[in-house]
Amino acid sequence: MDLMTPTLLKKLHQYILNDAVDKFYRLKVWRDLRLIALRRDDYKCQYDKRLGLDTKADTVHHIIPVRDNPRLALRLSNLESISKSNHNREHPEKLEKEKKFMNEERW
Ligand SMILES: [Zn+2]
Repeated sequence: MDLMTPTLLKKLHQYILNDAVDKFYRLKVWRDLRLIALRRDDYKCQYDKRLGLDTKADTVHHIIPVRDNPRLALRLSNLESISKSNHNREHPEKLEKEKKFMNEERW
């Protein structure tokens, strides 16, 4: 399943250029597809599953990151359900960014 269209791809390229990829995650097409991925994975963290653990997934991760290959952003086979803690570990750069935000914007 791949819900990417030329129009959406253009939009996504624009988001990436503007450092506004968060806009992609607000699109209905993404919200719908992430639910399909979670249902496919039975709302289980696929990382922990590989370790024989049974953990709830609440996040959907792009195996090949959106910025690396926007064409794969809406391809179901590029998506994996993952727990929040594993996802944060997978994206240390995101946490750093948030910390920076806290330090610079809040204090
Ligand atoms: Zn991710």
